[in-house]
Amino acid sequence: MNVTWDQVYSQFQVKTLILKVANRCNLACTYCYWFQDKTAFSKPSVMPVDVEDVLLAKLGDYIISSGVDCFTLALHGGEPMLLGLKRTKALLEKIRTLSIDTSVPIRTSIQTNGTLITRDWCETFKTYNVSLGISIDGPKEVHDSSRRDFKGCGSFDKIIKGLKLLRDNDVPFGILSVCDPASDPEIALKFFFEELNLIGLDILIPDITHDEKPQNISNYYKRLFDVWVSKYANEGRRIRFFENIISSILGKGSRVETIGYSVNNIVTIDSDGEIMLLDTLKICKGFEPSLGLNVLTNSIEDIYDSDAYKEILREALTLNSKCISCQFNISCGGGYLPHRWNSKTNNFRNPSVYCEDLLTTMSHIKSFMESDLEIETI
Ligand code: SF4
Repeated sequence: MNVTWDQVYSQFQVKTLILKVANRCNLACTYCYWFQDKTAFSKPSVMPVDVEDVLLAKLGDYIISSGVDCFTLALHGGEPMLLGLKRTKALLEKIRTLSIDTSVPIRTSIQTNGTLITRDWCETFKTYNVSLGISIDGPKEVHDSSRRDFKGCGSFDKIIKGLKLLRDNDVPFGILSVCDPASDPEIALKFFFEELNLIGLDILIPDITHDEKPQNISNYYKRLFDVWVSKYANEGRRIRFFENIISSILGKGSRVETIGYSVNNIVTIDSDGEIMLLDTLKICKGFEPSLGLNVLTNSIEDIYDSDAYKEILREALTLNSKCISCQFNISCGGGYLPHRWNSKTNNFRNPSVYCEDLLTTMSHIKSFMESDLEIETI
């Protein structure tokens, strides 16, 4: 039976919106993807209340008409806490009301650089059951090499203070880290699992396209994996990147958009209400992630009629010939979509810019699973 692209598109519902509630940041991290595009500075520094209200009204209509059983709103920036405590509380209250009115659970998350946390913020995170993600890249010297403020001062000490406040106030949080391939993975895990006593975290691959030369990341990830399985995995300490690779290799799929064969239909609402594709597609020079829609004039459902939206679903699912014949084509899925972009060919139909490193890392993990664990993989 031949399946048409229209039938494929109809399988995917938008269930996550990234809200750019603040379009500025108090840090100037060296690898930040959002402010690489300077048009961000022409947008409102925080989402105006009227945009927020129209957005939530239209989201309510969408939730009812689409029949989604749950929804996620990810408050993002820039630095989302620059929205301010009063505005954030009011927004979280409106989201709670929307969830009650629609009878659909709405999960709210905030991904923050962790430098602005106070006791009052902790209370708010708890009151509204916010899933909190803190960005920290490792011990002070690693973290401060890339996550600095506009005066060049590292942000590590402020974040550690913030984490202490969260712990003192019983606020659960997750950690997102970006890998520095020049650093020592063993020291990173000692810091995260022993000094911070974390149960889980993720260590992300730096976001680049084929327009840049990638650093070798496989040596870092192979060592990270070996240290994790030999010292920490048995204690129940988790690294999301590896858990998803293992799950994919076992044929159980990945639950994150950065790895595995799947579409990425997360949609971003910019601070002026503009509706855009996934925010990290901003790193793709020559590619326009805007859908030409705005919540002030369009409904959320209009996304489904957008050619750009359909194109990105199609591109995510269309692998190039190298990936099609690769043993990891399902578990890797060709790599994270932005990492496949090449501005010379002007398309995503390339293996990930990290292909060789992904191949090496996945082979390493697969061999471990087959020999040490004696697990039969697909
Ligand atoms: S490892 Fe490389 S060839 Fe294999 S699916 Fe991933 S990007 Fe494609």
